[in-house]
Amino acid sequence: MQRFQCYIDGEFLDGEARYRSIDPATGKDWADMPEAREGDVDSAVNAAEKALYDGPWAKMTATQRGKLLYKLADLVAANAPKLAELETRDTGKIIRETSAQIAYVADYYRYYAGIADKIEGSYLPIDKQDMDVWLRREPIGVVAMVVPWNSQLFLSAVKIGPALAAGCTMVVKASEDGPAPLLEFARLIHEAGFPAGVVNIITGFGASCGAALSRHPKVAHVAFTGGPETARHIVRNSAENLASTSLELGGKSPFIVFADADLESAANAQVAGIFAATGQSCVAGSRLIVERSIKDRFLSLLKDKAEAIRIGSPLDMATEVGPLATRRQQDHVAALIHKSVQSGARIITGGQMPDGKGFYFPPTILDCDGVASPSLAEEFFGPVLSVVAFDTEAEALRLANDTRYGLASGVFTQNLTRAHRLMKGIRAGIVWVNTYRAVSPIAPFGGFGLSGHGREGGLAAALDYTRTKTIWLRTSDDPIPDPFVMR
Ligand code: NAD
Repeated sequence: MQRFQCYIDGEFLDGEARYRSIDPATGKDWADMPEAREGDVDSAVNAAEKALYDGPWAKMTATQRGKLLYKLADLVAANAPKLAELETRDTGKIIRETSAQIAYVADYYRYYAGIADKIEGSYLPIDKQDMDVWLRREPIGVVAMVVPWNSQLFLSAVKIGPALAAGCTMVVKASEDGPAPLLEFARLIHEAGFPAGVVNIITGFGASCGAALSRHPKVAHVAFTGGPETARHIVRNSAENLASTSLELGGKSPFIVFADADLESAANAQVAGIFAATGQSCVAGSRLIVERSIKDRFLSLLKDKAEAIRIGSPLDMATEVGPLATRRQQDHVAALIHKSVQSGARIITGGQMPDGKGFYFPPTILDCDGVASPSLAEEFFGPVLSVVAFDTEAEALRLANDTRYGLASGVFTQNLTRAHRLMKGIRAGIVWVNTYRAVSPIAPFGGFGLSGHGREGGLAAALDYTRTKTIWLRTSDDPIPDPFVMR
């Protein structure tokens, strides 16, 4: 059984307790994990605070920070196959996707390496003759980062990269489900030469480790990715020391297909949008909103594609859909389908939990047209597509916005003016037109409403890890005049 450790203050430690991680493809224990509790959290935050104010990191130039980030990017690229295999083993995400995604994670670190020495302050054209005033951008402080099980290396890179570029120090809490790749990544942080305490990586359970971290009095900012219910706990916890938060949460993203779209291309994008990563993607295009005149044709295309998907071992390069990450997730998907069918949704394909080992679930399509199905409102985080039809553009837009979430959306049409109207009208942080599930380090990513607030990716994400300090310098040698008048 493989053994993993936490990384605190530059050392690899066993953690206050241990637990077993389950291989989702077999349902059996496969690794022995460290469980950080309050004591470990406290040590990690203290180490991060010490590294922030004392020691080599605090004295480094931004260019030196950038060089370390470049080194880290190269190490991630060189170790991508190993990290990908660990992620696949521990979460069931298929090796085809983890390999490609982790190779791209290196580019995220490279992007933020280049940003490190471009985070500039400013000189203000102040309205007083005898004053020079500057804004300095300083690191926001010790950052707590809490990530979910899916894509832990990617979801942590979009936090660690900009935070390091900005000069912050951090404690990263991997999810208790599938922490192996992130715990292994700590070895690359160490090898790249980041000073002790700058990046601490732990794992543990949400209610103990996650809660202790998000309410720790020395934490200035909590960067969270996960579900809205957990986000509420995080916000309540962070209120204790008034830490700021950025929240990347779930979604129920609309995928709109008009009759004039290239249906083959739209169907492939829909398959990518809902069945890739076994649907465990925050941007899953889980609500298909299709023009009524092509509904049957499009659904038949989708059904054929869904039924042709190769389900199998996530470690096999040919597999297209692997298991869900946990038994809990498998039960949740089955229960929500059951509730939806009871409310009138019709199963087009899939829908049945398979017998046998592992946490598998087949690609499923639910026709929910004219039905108030819970599957249209609640996130599955699994391979389940809910379908409704529309007759007019206005109805398509109304259906798209009929959600408390607002993370992503897709529009498939050849009509340019309509595409422009919809990209303005849709209430979501991302609108993909004639494409879906595209990401880049250069493009901000984040949601509206229950999908959270704050953006990851792009230059602005690095600025979010800074706070400004206003410096006033009086340039006159004359004595200060009337002390009772504010200048
Ligand atoms: P989750 O909210 O259950 O857990 C996420 C993390 O929070 C885990 O590390 C967990 O240990 C921790 N946690 C749990 N309770 C906590 C508490 N009380 N205090 C502090 N931390 C706590 O999410 P999940 O089930 O692991 O992941 C699935 C969710 O993540 C879905 O809703 C999905 O949409 C969302 N997600 C969002 C994005 C995005 O970028 N918007 C990306 C991926 C996943």
